[in-house]
Amino acid sequence: MNNGDLFSDIKFLKGVGPKMAEKLNLLGIYTKYDLLMYPPFRYIDRKLMLDENFTDGGYYTVLGKVIDFGEFYTKRGKYIFQSVVETSAKNYLFLTWFNNRFIKKSINKGDIALFSGKINIKRGSYEMLHPDFEIFQDDFMELINTGKIVPVYHTKNGITQKYLRKIIFSLIKSIDGIEEDLPDYLIKQKNFLSLKESITNLHFPENEDKNRLGLKRLKYSELFYTGLIVARRKIENSSKYVEKNYVEKSSLVENFLSSLDFSLTDDQKRSIEEIIKDMKETKPMNRLLMGDVGVGKTVVATVAILVAIDSGYQSALMAPTEILAQQHYIKIKESVEKLGVRVELLTSSISDKKEKYSRIKEGKIDLVVGTHSLIRDEVVFKNLKLVIVDEQHRFGVIHRSTLKEKGKDVDYLVMTATPIPRSLYLALYGDMDLSMIRQRPSIQKVVKTKWVSSTGLKKMYDFIKKRILDGEKTFIVCPAIEGEDEADYDSVKKVYDNLSKTYLKGYRLGMIHSKLNYREQEKILKDLRDGLIDVLIGTTIVEVGLDIKDATIMVILSAERFGLSQLHQLRGRVGRGERQSFCFVVSSEDITEEAINRLKVFSRYNDGFKISEYDLKFRGPGELWGKKQSGIPIFKFANFFEDMILMKEAFFDAEKILKNDMNLLKNEDKVIKINLERKSNEKVD
Ligand code: ADP
Ligand code: MG
Repeated sequence: MNNGDLFSDIKFLKGVGPKMAEKLNLLGIYTKYDLLMYPPFRYIDRKLMLDENFTDGGYYTVLGKVIDFGEFYTKRGKYIFQSVVETSAKNYLFLTWFNNRFIKKSINKGDIALFSGKINIKRGSYEMLHPDFEIFQDDFMELINTGKIVPVYHTKNGITQKYLRKIIFSLIKSIDGIEEDLPDYLIKQKNFLSLKESITNLHFPENEDKNRLGLKRLKYSELFYTGLIVARRKIENSSKYVEKNYVEKSSLVENFLSSLDFSLTDDQKRSIEEIIKDMKETKPMNRLLMGDVGVGKTVVATVAILVAIDSGYQSALMAPTEILAQQHYIKIKESVEKLGVRVELLTSSISDKKEKYSRIKEGKIDLVVGTHSLIRDEVVFKNLKLVIVDEQHRFGVIHRSTLKEKGKDVDYLVMTATPIPRSLYLALYGDMDLSMIRQRPSIQKVVKTKWVSSTGLKKMYDFIKKRILDGEKTFIVCPAIEGEDEADYDSVKKVYDNLSKTYLKGYRLGMIHSKLNYREQEKILKDLRDGLIDVLIGTTIVEVGLDIKDATIMVILSAERFGLSQLHQLRGRVGRGERQSFCFVVSSEDITEEAINRLKVFSRYNDGFKISEYDLKFRGPGELWGKKQSGIPIFKFANFFEDMILMKEAFFDAEKILKNDMNLLKNEDKVIKINLERKSNEKVD
């Protein structure tokens, strides 16, 4: 099999087909290659144990022959299937399954098989509950699920461990070799296992050592390619020489700052200085403005915009959602229009776009605020010089904004509301300079967070009612069900109906969810701002960027279903003004240990750095679908906390190679070029 085939659609793999392929897609598996690279998150040692020194509660894998079986019901009507096995060391072992009618079909008298499970010793006899087993069909049968170290994967949607193991096992068997994704000289120099050996030992390790070595190589590869992307941007950017014509002193900025009814924090002032200094350099600015939700990044961005406009350039500000774009638009317009700045909004649901396009093209608009629609071909600028992307907490390592390409040597500023540890910052934004806002505006008070049990609900709603009398506003967030608009709507509607009949009867409630179009959403938010609504019940649509100063209470229902960073974003919607704000997390009774830990950390810490650090720690490698929830993509194999040293090494190597061979034209680097292109085209979401 050649590598080309490995990148064909997973549905063509034997034993998969279109239906299973769809389910595998949900695990991020689109090709055979993705399947090979799907990491187990743990292993079970099911190597055969011939001596059978059974102790109570120990985990064993034994070879045995089925000598009898039977089925019966307990008094309460529970179905039990039991079988007796004689093991190779002549022990008798009772195997028991509850409520599993399929087992009967798969076991026969005389079958010889490997059985894995925990042994219970009861009055001198041995019992295994729900063992995993694999029957020898013939002498040459290959064991997949037992008899060796066996992988355990994260799965969902009814994809079983056995199924995954089987397709991965036979895929590995069927390929002779896999083209290396690193050049030979690196593999030799680092003493790496071959790619095929690494992958084999990732799934079905010969032993722990081989597994570790293979994993190291896989980690190195993904870090190396990330390092390459980062290094290339860095080199390209620093080698540019650009003539710019920014004004020395901007009166627009002065007027704007003196119109504010607060004074800037030191961190805001320093960030502004750093940005303005960059803009005046003879290379394009490439800077990240990092600061927790609510620290006041928008003011800083506005200053940069005004410097550009005062110098005769156009600026663009792009936000991840319509609501957020709309809000930036309203807010910035409010403060700069009176200074003579021409601002326009451009999102997909805006009408008379044509007319706006032509004004943008003629340079009659100074600042365009919008969503992804800004990237469309029809949008042409006269002299775009500053692009600001408000990523909030959505990251893209590989895909950077193409909006930059609409201007010549554009200055680029990214805002992010997820403070992240240094190692992660280097991996995601290593090519960018960093401005950090840590200090909160002093008028803001720390949001008080409380974890409410179901018996505390009445007290909580009574508290909310008191606050409503004081003119304060409350958000109530219900868990969104990923990708299902209907279900979102259902959960919001249910809570709304319920509350309007019970705890919040007679109060003015509003609803917001993804089934409303953005005009309807905007209307609701306006009603909330104007004081026509006291309590807004919605999905995580309220998550990003909303800035409503007298909203002081955030209630998060079924909080166990949210990721840490997402909870923190939601909390950031309150506490933006002078009043004391509160965040209540309400969880179901029966939640996992993991969820308990998460909610504990959330209730204890208010610092975004701490939150994102824990978020990364809680989710080990391989938990890829946590990405959407938390916004922080993680590597498949590498871990930001454990693999710092390897990351430095890989980044160093990548930069060194590029410095000698910027366009990867050397023969020995061809494999890097091919793989880099492949990885740059990979699906990100
Ligand atoms: P974020 O960093 O989340 O984008 P914003 O820029 O939206 O934060 O600011 C949050 C709120 O704090 C806004 O209402 C803003 O007007 C206000 N704010 C910003 N800077 C200050 C400051 N130095 N002092 C007081 N309030 C401020
Ligand atoms: Mg903001």
